[in-house]
Amino acid sequence: MPSPCRLCPRSCGADRTGGKRGFCGETAEIRIAAASLHRGEEPPITGRGGSGTIFFTGCTLGCVFCQNSQISHNGMGRVVDRAEFTAICLALQERGAENINLVTGSHCAPALAAFLRSARNKGLVLPLLWNSSAYESLDAPAHLEDLVDVWLPDLKTLDSALAGHFFRAPDYPEAATRAILRMLDLRGALRWNGPVLVSGVIVRHLVLPGYPESTRAVLQWFANHCRGRALLSLMTQYTPVGEGRDMPCRYVNQDEYDQLLQWLTDLEIDDGFCQELVPDDSWLPDFERINPFSSALSVPIWHWKAGLIGACEK
Ligand code: SF4
Repeated sequence: MPSPCRLCPRSCGADRTGGKRGFCGETAEIRIAAASLHRGEEPPITGRGGSGTIFFTGCTLGCVFCQNSQISHNGMGRVVDRAEFTAICLALQERGAENINLVTGSHCAPALAAFLRSARNKGLVLPLLWNSSAYESLDAPAHLEDLVDVWLPDLKTLDSALAGHFFRAPDYPEAATRAILRMLDLRGALRWNGPVLVSGVIVRHLVLPGYPESTRAVLQWFANHCRGRALLSLMTQYTPVGEGRDMPCRYVNQDEYDQLLQWLTDLEIDDGFCQELVPDDSWLPDFERINPFSSALSVPIWHWKAGLIGACEK
């Protein structure tokens, strides 16, 4: 891990190897909150067996409405070493995961790359997914470019003022678009194993209620730069949580949803997915629980309090 750390665009300079925590909340050690077979990802990621999601503690962004704030902002999770990380990956593989889905690991990319190489040497053969906010310098993809099969970045907004207000990162648009273009260079061609995506890029966008122009600009950018090279995933599961900073305090409504569908038609974006309207907080996880999600969405494999979970505890 570089020290002082300039790994992400935040470039906060924390002495992580000396045990200090950066803006992301993390030292040089890797912390994980949960690992599960997740059935709520996009169909080509979920497949039949579920996506082998591993949720890392910490985050380089400060989204005020983060649905995972227990782990992204509040430090829930525990340190794992290389051997335990490998055991988690192999347990996901043995339990039928379609892939290893690394959720928000940008702040530990160099150390994680070493862990992943070790897991590969111990028998991990599943495709690797990099599931990130895209708020990363080009260093993060560079550490992982020979390892990651599917890049799964967010593109949250292209509005710098909005990014400063909601994510504490006015440079988010510039950093995220640069990172996504690099990911497209690395894995621009979509490759499939039956219905499961095994190589390529999926760009995710979470629709913010009340900010239609932000979404429209993201869709236009996708049409200009990614259409035909990547899949789009439009997510409507925004759930009002937290307080302050004028954040949207309602769900996406039907009028907004209809407008989204019209823009997809107008921009001729038809490769991808659009989540159905979400009327409640059923997507909100609780990482205090052994299964942070509903049993319909997820099967727990490892938890920061319990470690590896046996088949009888599903
Ligand atoms: S990864 Fe963390 S410690 Fe490093 S620059 Fe970014 S926020 Fe700071």
